[in-house]
Amino acid sequence: MLELPFEPDAGSDPLRVAVMLPRPLKGAYDYAVPPGLFLQRGDIVEVPLGRTREVGVVWGPGTGEVPQAKLKPVAHRFDTGPLPADLLDFIDWVADYTLAPPGDVLALVLRVPSALEPPETRTAYVPGAHTPERLSAARKRVLQIAQDGMARRAGELAREAGVSLSVVKGLIAAGALAAVALPAFPRFPAPDPSPGSLQLSPSQEEAGAALRSRVAAGFSATLLDGVTGSGKTEVYFEAVAEALRQGGQVLILLPEIALSVQFLDRFAARFGCRPAEWHSDLSQRERRGTWRAVMTGEARAIVGARSALFLPYTDLSLIIVDEEHDNAFKQEEGLIYHARDMAVVRAKMGGFPIILSSATPSLETWLNAARGRYLHVKLPQRHGAARLPEVALIDLREEGPEPESWLSPKLVAAMEETLSGGEQVLLFLNRRGYAPLTICRACGHRLGCPNCSSWLVEHRYHARLKCHHCGYELARPQACPSCHAEGKLHACGPGVERLAEEVRARFPGRLVAIASSDVLHGPKQTQAAIEAMAEGGTDILIGTQMVAKGHNFPGLTLVGIVDADLGLAGGDPRARERTFQLLHQVSGRAGRAEKPGRVLIQTTQPDLPVMQALAAQDRDGFLAIEAEDRQANGLPPFGRLAAVIISGSDEALVHATAQELRRSAPLCEGIAVWGPAPASLSRLKGQTRVRLLVHAARNLKLSEYVRPWLACVRVPGRVRVSVDIDPVSFF
Ligand code: ADP
Ligand code: ZN
Repeated sequence: MLELPFEPDAGSDPLRVAVMLPRPLKGAYDYAVPPGLFLQRGDIVEVPLGRTREVGVVWGPGTGEVPQAKLKPVAHRFDTGPLPADLLDFIDWVADYTLAPPGDVLALVLRVPSALEPPETRTAYVPGAHTPERLSAARKRVLQIAQDGMARRAGELAREAGVSLSVVKGLIAAGALAAVALPAFPRFPAPDPSPGSLQLSPSQEEAGAALRSRVAAGFSATLLDGVTGSGKTEVYFEAVAEALRQGGQVLILLPEIALSVQFLDRFAARFGCRPAEWHSDLSQRERRGTWRAVMTGEARAIVGARSALFLPYTDLSLIIVDEEHDNAFKQEEGLIYHARDMAVVRAKMGGFPIILSSATPSLETWLNAARGRYLHVKLPQRHGAARLPEVALIDLREEGPEPESWLSPKLVAAMEETLSGGEQVLLFLNRRGYAPLTICRACGHRLGCPNCSSWLVEHRYHARLKCHHCGYELARPQACPSCHAEGKLHACGPGVERLAEEVRARFPGRLVAIASSDVLHGPKQTQAAIEAMAEGGTDILIGTQMVAKGHNFPGLTLVGIVDADLGLAGGDPRARERTFQLLHQVSGRAGRAEKPGRVLIQTTQPDLPVMQALAAQDRDGFLAIEAEDRQANGLPPFGRLAAVIISGSDEALVHATAQELRRSAPLCEGIAVWGPAPASLSRLKGQTRVRLLVHAARNLKLSEYVRPWLACVRVPGRVRVSVDIDPVSFF
C-alpha cells in the first residue's frame, strides 16, 4: 500500500517535513525526506542536529523557510508507528496554554528513548537443518519433543525431555536446533471487566450506573462527590470496567502513586491483575516496557502520577482523576502544569469522559458541578455500618497543653480512652523532623539556610539540621554560630519526631510509629508502616500529610490534629481551602469500620469559618463562603492569575529585570500586573526570586497577553523568567 506523507494539499512539499525536537525551541525544524522513506505526521524519527543526532517527531509538512539544498535529511524512522494525532494536538495545546515551547512538552512524551528500539525478544528453538548421524538417547528425546514445531526455550526443552541443559546446548552447537526470536512475554495481562465480587449498595449501584452511562458517549466531565469511606473507588471501577469491556484504554491518575500499594491490590481484587504503573519509582526497564505497551495497546489500564498523562495511548477512552483536589497534580518545576486541568483538556480533545473523584473537591471543580458544566454524582453516606466521625475543636488558648508539650489534656484523655478500648490513634502533624526552628537563647540568633530564606529543621534522630527546600544540612552544632555561646541552642516548636518523644513518655509500652517521608525511605518502608497500622500492629501513628488520604485503618477511631493552624500562615489565597481539604481528609481516616470515630482538632483560631466548617462537617457551607470571597476579589475561578517568577543568583540583576518587565507590561483593559514582590521563598537554592502576578478577567486569555509581553523584553542570560499559569501555590 502506498503511504502518502500527508494529505497532499496543494502547497506542501513531499520532499521536506517539519520535525519537532524535544528541546526548548520555538517550533519544528524542516528536514529533507530521503528517497524511499515515507513519513507521516506523528512518526518518530532520528535527525541530525549539530554534530549529534536527536530523536524528534514529524509534526507536519515542511515550512519551506530554509532552501531545500540546505536541508539535512531525516536519518531514520523508528518502527513504533506514529504517535496518535490527538496526542500531538494535546502537546500543541498544552504548550500554548502554559507558554512553554512545544518541544518541552514533547520531551515529556519522549522521556524513554530506549522504548523506541525494537521490543525485547527471547530466544527459542525449533529443529535445525542439520541432524547428526548418531544421537544419544537424551539428545533423541529432545529432538522428538522439538519435532512438533512449537518454539521452546532451551530450559523448557531440557525440562520436558528430562535432560540437562548441556544436552540441549550440544544440539544447538551441532546445528540440530535453530534459534528463533519470540516476542518477550506480555507483561500486561488484560484486566477482566466482568462484574466484581463486591455487592454494591443501592446508592453505589445508582452512582455506578450513572458513570457507566458516560462511557463511549463522547466527552463529559463528572464530579464523583462522595464522603470519605463511601466507596468512590468501587464506584468508579464500574466505569473502568465498562470502558475496558468496550475495548478502550483507561488511565487512573493518582496524586502519590508510591503510597498506593493498597490501591494496586484493590484494582487486582476487582480486575484479576494489577494495572500498568507509571511513576518516578520505576526502573528504566519498567519504563521502557510500559511506554511501549501503552503505545501498542497491550496495556489496557494504567495507574499513574501526573506524567502518565503524556504516555502515547492508542485508544484512551476514559480518565479518572482520584483525589482531584490534591496539589500533587500540579507540576511546579520544569514544565509547570496542572495534571487535573490538562486531563480534562485531553478528554475533551479525545472526545471521551473524565471522572474527577473527591470527598473534598477543589473550589473550581465544585463550582463547575454546581453550575452544571460538570455532572455531579453524589455518595452522601459511608459504606456499610460505618458512620462519619464526630468532630470537636479544642481551643488552645484556653485548654492548651503545658509549656514544651503539644498535646492538650483533652486530647490526652481521649487517647487514653481509645487505647484502653483496644483501638488505635492517629496524630496528625504536618511537619517533618524534630523542631522547625532552632534559636540561640543567648543572642536570639535563628539558624537559617545559607541558600534559602528558610529556617533549618532539626532532625534529632540523625543529629542534623536540614533545609527542607534545598537539602543543605549540617551536624547540630554545640555552640551558637553567631555568638559562640555553648549549650544555648534551643529547639522551638514540634515536628513529628518531637511529638513522638512526648507520646512515648506519656504512653509507655504503647507501640508508636512515625510516618513521614524522611523517616520512611521508599515505597517498601511506607507500605510496611501503612500495613502495620492497618493490621493493628501500631497503637499510635504519628504522621504528616502522607497519612492523610486513601488509607483504610479499620481499628482507627481517634484522630488528633495537633496544630490545625499550621497551613494558614502567609498570604496564599488558597490556604483556607487547602487546610479544609487536608484536615477533612485526615479526619476521614477515623471510624471507617463498625466502631464510631472521633476527631479532635487543636487550634488557636476556633472561630475561623474553616474551623467551624470542619467541626460541623459543613463542606458546602465552607465552599460557598470561599466562593463568595474569591468572587469579591476576582480570584480564580472568577478571574485568572498567572505568576511570573524572575530568578537568578545576581540579586541586583533579578530586581532590575523584574522592574523592566513591570515597566513594559502593556496596558490592557481587564488586566492588571501586580508586583514585583519577593516570592514567599525569596531565596531558594541560592537564587533570588521575585514575583509578578498577572490578574485578568475570566473571559480573557492570559497566554495571549503574557506571550507578546515577555517576548519584547530582553532578559539577561543569567536571569530566568518562568511563567506559572493558574498558580496554586505561592512559594
Ligand atoms: P472512598 O474512596 O470513598 O473513601 P473507598 O472506595 O476507599 O471509599 O471504600 C471504603 C472502604 O469500604 C473500602 O475498604 C472498600 O473496600 C469498602 N467498600 C466500599 N464499598 C463496598 C461494598 N459495596 N462492599 C464491601 N465493601 C465496600
Ligand atoms: Zn536551603
